[in-house]
Amino acid sequence: ETHKEQLGFQAEVKQLLDLMIHSLYSHKEIFLRELISNASDAIDRLRFDALSDSSLYERDAEFKIRVDYDKEARTITVSDNGIGMNRQEVIEHIGTIAKSGTREFFKSLTGDKQKDANLIGQFGVGFYSTFVVADNITLTTRRAGATADEGVRWQSEGQGEYTIENVEKATRGTEVTLHLREGEDEFLSGSRLREIIRKYSDHIMLPIIMQKEEQEEGKEPEEEVVNRASALWTRPRNEITEQEYNEFYQHVAHDFGDPLAYLHSKMEGTQEYTLLLYIPAHAPFDLYTREFHHGVKLYVRRVFIMDDAEKLMPRYLRFIRGVIDSNDLPLNVSREILQQNRQIDQIRSNATKKVLGLLTDMAKNESEKYASFWSEFGRVMKEGLLEDRGNRDTLAKLQRFSSTLTESETQDVSLEAYVSRMKDGQDSIYYLVAESHAAAKNSPLLEIFKKKGVEVLLLSDPLDHFLGSELSEFEGKKLQSVSKGEIDLDKFTDEQEKEEQQKTADEARGLVERLKQTLQEKVKDVRITQRLTSSPACLVIDQYGIDPSLKRLLEATGQ
Ligand code: ADP
Ligand code: MG
Repeated sequence: ETHKEQLGFQAEVKQLLDLMIHSLYSHKEIFLRELISNASDAIDRLRFDALSDSSLYERDAEFKIRVDYDKEARTITVSDNGIGMNRQEVIEHIGTIAKSGTREFFKSLTGDKQKDANLIGQFGVGFYSTFVVADNITLTTRRAGATADEGVRWQSEGQGEYTIENVEKATRGTEVTLHLREGEDEFLSGSRLREIIRKYSDHIMLPIIMQKEEQEEGKEPEEEVVNRASALWTRPRNEITEQEYNEFYQHVAHDFGDPLAYLHSKMEGTQEYTLLLYIPAHAPFDLYTREFHHGVKLYVRRVFIMDDAEKLMPRYLRFIRGVIDSNDLPLNVSREILQQNRQIDQIRSNATKKVLGLLTDMAKNESEKYASFWSEFGRVMKEGLLEDRGNRDTLAKLQRFSSTLTESETQDVSLEAYVSRMKDGQDSIYYLVAESHAAAKNSPLLEIFKKKGVEVLLLSDPLDHFLGSELSEFEGKKLQSVSKGEIDLDKFTDEQEKEEQQKTADEARGLVERLKQTLQEKVKDVRITQRLTSSPACLVIDQYGIDPSLKRLLEATGQ
């Protein structure tokens, strides 16, 4: 009883398939990378599960991935002896998209092929990318530990439906056969397939096996391993080329472009571990969604343990991609153990310092690169200032702001640069928070600062509202909001100006009294000010009051 049935793809899958076939055309060779990466994941999962149930090995612990092709039949087959799937799992994993961020993903598509291809890459092209080159796909699989008659065959032409039936499969694991579309014959070549495997899968730590091209008459076909099968991060830095670093990044980050920067470092001491961490060139579309996954994979002694191990990086560094491989953690480490593990805390703390060190160097020596980093990731780095008190000084130096110096919306002024430009006798760093950059730069509160030539930082991101309360000083200089309390710019005023101001104040005394009587309870005080040069009046709050724009923000979020 094969129990064959025909089922429809989920609507999103159909949409994604259409998109891929149209946008991924210039990257179509990645179908092989995706199949090999799934095979490798499946073997990793089996190895992990077998730690607690060795019967899953079924007396075959020689893990490998095979790639075969058949010129006559126009097929390519990728098979593995990994964990496999049962019928329900095939339906759930191959016929649906269960990823978080799916909605954001579809919303952020632009219709521009190149941009969308990058988005699809970030989203994870996965299994469906095979339909870019194939018009018919058969997947045969059997879960480790199940019996031979519990095999499952899935088959689809990528047109919205698939069939699924039970079959015999003697060996555990999964076999995927692609029937190539018209015109895709370039992939029916041993040398082309080997080239793609080396490009994308050299560092997959499992042997990828192909039949030798030259076979001797009458003998059993010979096989060979075509990838290097060694973990990139275990090799010495000086033996790894820039291109290898970049290719590995594309593999871990599912990105088509190169990273902005990376660090590769072997830590020794109380604990031994290796870091290979990348800063992407672009912020992922779903960076600010709640479900955004951390991008660092945890390995223990080169065995893959888990993806998105959020304990390995502080939350604000969730955009970092890469690998941390520990020599000391136990192989059966679980998410629960990671929650409160001193070794992990130490790894996180050092990895964070390394990343911030990389950024500090970049800010110092490659300012253009840092500017591009800031425009992509500045907002999360502001989260960092609020979140990571231990590294506050470093994070404060990494912040960039708009200022009255250029009035440009580009955030490119560091606190250090501000301090170096401070006027003689100026002892505060002045800033103004508003709902938008335009509102900030046109605020009447700035008039007196402009007149005196004193620079003011212009802040308009929601998180900037917390700057003053989180960072009260920088290098001994107080951070002072220009909309709070008395601002003493007297130092920059000469005697003659002071006399004139006194005269104005005397003349206006009557007006102040009348205003106080009229406004009564509506205000706390009415004062003569030297802050304004052309506007007649402005509202300020006292030193310990809440900024009006923060107040509105808190009200809007229901606090
Ligand atoms: P991803 O690998 O990012 O999860 P894919 O589209 O590549 O997305 O694969 C979807 C799911 O299908 C995988 O998560 C896995 O559960 C299942 N799968 C795909 N290929 C295999 C395989 N060779 N062995 C076992 N499961 C697989
Ligand atoms: Mg995959």
